[in-house]
Amino acid sequence: MPLCYIAGVTNQSSNRPVLRFAPSPTGHLHLGHALSAFENERWAKASGGRLLLRIEDIDTTRCRPEFVAALLEDLAWLGLPFEPSPRRQSEHFDDYRQALDRLATMGLLYRSYASRAEIAAAVRQPGHPRDPDGTPLYPRAALAAMDDPARRDPAEPFALRLDMTAALAKAAALGLSLFWREQRAPRDQSAQPIPAGPERWGDVVLARKEFPASYHLAVVVDDALQGITHVVRGRDLYHATGLHRLLQALLGLPEPIYHHHDLLLGPDGEKLSKSARSTSLRALRADGATPADIKQMALMG
Ligand code: GLU
Repeated sequence: MPLCYIAGVTNQSSNRPVLRFAPSPTGHLHLGHALSAFENERWAKASGGRLLLRIEDIDTTRCRPEFVAALLEDLAWLGLPFEPSPRRQSEHFDDYRQALDRLATMGLLYRSYASRAEIAAAVRQPGHPRDPDGTPLYPRAALAAMDDPARRDPAEPFALRLDMTAALAKAAALGLSLFWREQRAPRDQSAQPIPAGPERWGDVVLARKEFPASYHLAVVVDDALQGITHVVRGRDLYHATGLHRLLQALLGLPEPIYHHHDLLLGPDGEKLSKSARSTSLRALRADGATPADIKQMALMG
């Protein structure tokens, strides 16, 4: 197991569970967020754990300060007992840079210059493999010439991608365990090992052209730095956990236990989205809903 490169972060699990709710301020919170926040509160209460808040505002192109203010107000209105001073990703770019440096030193990153349109053109043939979110896997071989730094203007922005083949070889050489532990209920001590299967994600982006990290990188670094022992989040992130487990293992970060809760679905059978105004907490509150009503609606589906 590689030693964690971050001073003060250890693989010793603390006695007291630490949970977190980690919304992205790209819109107003809706009932799906309330469900996740209440689930975290339930786990924290049942296990005597701490409840932290993290604002995932790394995507500076989509996150807006007014949504941060609104989500803080919505959560305070709901009466959720988060500890003060939430972590804001946009204040911690150095932490993500260090993790990237570490992976680069291990030879696991490469520069990717191709535009969205160029990638789309290279994956057009039917049957091109897709990641669990439905995005076509990055066609590295087809874009190798385009991604050759020697052919690019040094000032040109690039993304950093994980070389998945090299990452898996490294993990195998180091004998790293690529399973995560899924726990069903707060006091159920038997966590089930789930094979991570990170290869399904291909060469994911770990630092974007527009900002110096990606969700997948920031989430593992933040969970480690906040000492999170239990990640309770929606099933939409179930497969992403396999990729997070690989990054944790390579970076020597502690391994939290996971619980993926069911999602609230809209009438169309799709998960609720931030654009669906009807389920936003603000709209429900304006219509007279109380925090108790929201809890009831969120937990009863
Ligand atoms: N920020 C993510 C979201 O709002 C959640 C990330 C996580 O819980 O790991 O969907």
